[in-house]
Amino acid sequence: MPPTAEHPVPQISVVVPAYNERGNLDALLAQIIDALRDWRWELVLVDDGSEDGTFAHIEALAARDSRVKGLSLSRNFGHQYALLAGLDCARGQAVISMDADLQHPPSLLPDLLQHWLDGADIVLTRRIPAGRLPWWKVATSNAFYAIFSRLTGVSMHEGESDFRLLDRNVLDALLTIDRTHLFLRGLVSWAGFRTARVEYNVRDRLSGKSKYSLRRMFGLAMTGITAFSSIPLRAGIGLGLATSLLAFAEFIFAVWSHWRGYAVPGWVSLIAVITLLFALNFVLIGVIGVYVSRIFEKIQDRPPYLIARRTNGDATPRTRTRLPPA
Ligand code: UDP
Ligand code: MG
Repeated sequence: MPPTAEHPVPQISVVVPAYNERGNLDALLAQIIDALRDWRWELVLVDDGSEDGTFAHIEALAARDSRVKGLSLSRNFGHQYALLAGLDCARGQAVISMDADLQHPPSLLPDLLQHWLDGADIVLTRRIPAGRLPWWKVATSNAFYAIFSRLTGVSMHEGESDFRLLDRNVLDALLTIDRTHLFLRGLVSWAGFRTARVEYNVRDRLSGKSKYSLRRMFGLAMTGITAFSSIPLRAGIGLGLATSLLAFAEFIFAVWSHWRGYAVPGWVSLIAVITLLFALNFVLIGVIGVYVSRIFEKIQDRPPYLIARRTNGDATPRTRTRLPPA
């Protein structure tokens, strides 16, 4: 929708994915209003298929404050895709993404914006390690970032999350990149640009429970690694080559023992041939895997999310029309 007097283009967009976060939205909005009082802003709330009436609440907030925009996805697509939906709709010159549960303090927003005013294209945040998080969350996150950086060559640090500011230019560039298997954190680190960093003390979740179980975190970790590294895919090749070497050594041994005359006739050479063939199989499966996975990812071509409903001006639900009876 083109900007009008009633809907001027905001300077700042704050994008927040929300899955069953009804109890946090009032406090979130109040704190954002307070933090961004010197700016023209919009708050894009993306309901990721909540079952607790989150979207009805977003609609109520949007009716009270026209700076609030809401989207409701057709089902739960997961945090990364809800975030992507919000980023697609954001119109600000600087776009800040954060969680709905107030673990990312809105009071930090002026700091992020100051770095942006000073010329940073990306402002990353990093939580100061604190006793507030469960130990397993800190430990798994530490392990993941260490493995990720090693496998991909893209450097990321423990405590970084999707709480960050992106300049419009960076966001536009990132949104053109393939959206399947989204791992925004990795993409932002990969992108480069002038980057500033801000540290903050993570707070407790205001209301509700964490949606990131160990299983979901593992899923995100796998998505991140496979999106940025083909090393696991190529592991078959390494395995195959190693087995080939073993098979070759065994082959030499078979010939040698035959020559010395104390081999069980036929047995060693049979094993050597079988091992060699298996090794070659591993290599070939590894190579085919590399190519098939590339093609597979490309042809899927499904949209990363579907929007069921929106709030506000540019988002009036389309009227349904039917063909007139013949
Ligand atoms: N979230 C989402 N869809 C999901 C899971 C989470 O939109 O399927 C949102 C959630 O509402 C919150 C953010 O992603 O705003 C981070 O989730 P959460 O706070 O549960 O993760 P944690 O902080 O425990 O890692
Ligand atoms: Mg949280």
